[in-house]
Amino acid sequence: MPEPRRSDHTDYVAVNPIFSRPGEDSVASKYTLEPDGMLPETAYQIVHDETMLDGNARLNLATFVSTWMDDHATKLYTESFDKNMIDKDEYPQTAAIETYCWRILADLWHSPSPKDAIGTSTIGSSEACMLGGLAMKRRWQHARKAAGKSTEKPNLIMSSAVQVCWEKFCNYWDVEARYVPISEEHRTLDGHDLDKYVDENTIGVIAIMGVTYTGMYEPVLEISKALDAIQEKTGLDVPIHVDGASGAMIAPFLQPELEWDFRLPRVHSINTSAHKYGLVYPGLGWVVWRSQDLLPDDLVFKVSYLGGSMPTFALNFSRPGAQVILQFYLFLRLGHDGYRAIQQSSQDVAKFLAEGIGKLDAFELWNDGSDIPVFAWRLAEGHTSNWTLYDLSDRLRGKGWLVPAYPMPDDLADLTVQRIVVRNGLSMDLAANLLRIIEEETAFLDELDSPMPRPRVTEGFHH
Ligand SMILES: *Cc1c(COP(=O)(O)O)cnc(C)c1O
Repeated sequence: MPEPRRSDHTDYVAVNPIFSRPGEDSVASKYTLEPDGMLPETAYQIVHDETMLDGNARLNLATFVSTWMDDHATKLYTESFDKNMIDKDEYPQTAAIETYCWRILADLWHSPSPKDAIGTSTIGSSEACMLGGLAMKRRWQHARKAAGKSTEKPNLIMSSAVQVCWEKFCNYWDVEARYVPISEEHRTLDGHDLDKYVDENTIGVIAIMGVTYTGMYEPVLEISKALDAIQEKTGLDVPIHVDGASGAMIAPFLQPELEWDFRLPRVHSINTSAHKYGLVYPGLGWVVWRSQDLLPDDLVFKVSYLGGSMPTFALNFSRPGAQVILQFYLFLRLGHDGYRAIQQSSQDVAKFLAEGIGKLDAFELWNDGSDIPVFAWRLAEGHTSNWTLYDLSDRLRGKGWLVPAYPMPDDLADLTVQRIVVRNGLSMDLAANLLRIIEEETAFLDELDSPMPRPRVTEGFHH
């Protein structure tokens, strides 16, 4: 076999001569393990330089995920890198802290009795949603078996604008996904026509607090009432799981009166992403059930803990424990009022941007950031055929800002929207700068006297 050309950059990373030492290779292989290693400094520099090409997290308005924590959090993080969440016996305090955290969340979400609730940390909302979905499926199976009925064809009802994790759940666990299409009149799953979807095989309904596409809340109370009406007519008692990936850490602070959580008896379980508005670094989610009987025993495994055993329910075995410690740090450090202040300032920025963008003739707001600090807009009907929101997104990218444009889900797929996710760290100052750039770039595009060349590839949807 011919020796590969060591200068070929598709297979090799060049080492800057400033860092390579005499006798060391000047290139490093990307795809094969080299026979010899290199100095740690050289290896560090290569990896450091490679990651420099990643985007600037601060200007990334596509992501929901935390990109900054304070120095104390960083210190705690480095002190706890090595903790494995599953080793409850070796790290009993980390295990205890995990329990403090989900109990705090059960309380924040108005569990009637937080000490009778049950919850767990996960790697993010995706895993948390899988667990919530599995518990619903298993309870439905038990009830069906007890009644001597078939368990062949479970289904789950959700909006067509669900996050991809629910499509995965249905695919991986053989559950039929019943999507309720969103439309101009029904911009979220709001309970209308729900009776057309529910039947004896329905394991539950997903209500999203903070739809990923737009940031809107689904009216959990309305959905719950629609299910009450269905129960009255048919006797079917269908539970709700709330996907509060973003909203479950916003609503308790910014819309405390809104009834979306365990105040509604039909809400059996709630998940959130600690690494979104929980403000922790990536790698942590939570799921909480209103009471222990809602999590079937036969899904729970025991791991050894202080000579006894501790129940666990998770898809992963080993995973980092450090983020759990960071979550507790933030709960202590910020308290209710600290979270409220931070979420409020993100919302102020979102409303400021939405107002500014809504004023431009080119755009129509889809929503205004008053649920979670996220909003979307579209091109005003008939405004132009010379450019699209993809062109605006490209122009903004050239200035360093990532503001994605994407099609809405299936039944509205002809509609393109552009979305901004405001996170802690996007200050009013930065936002004012962004708004000015959006105004300038929009004016530039409006001056075109012929259509922009169509990009070869359009951007995918950013979760
Ligand atoms: C982000 C998101 C998820 C997935 O959360 P991860 O923590 O990234 O796994 C699920 N549902 C909704 C509504 C989301 O916004």
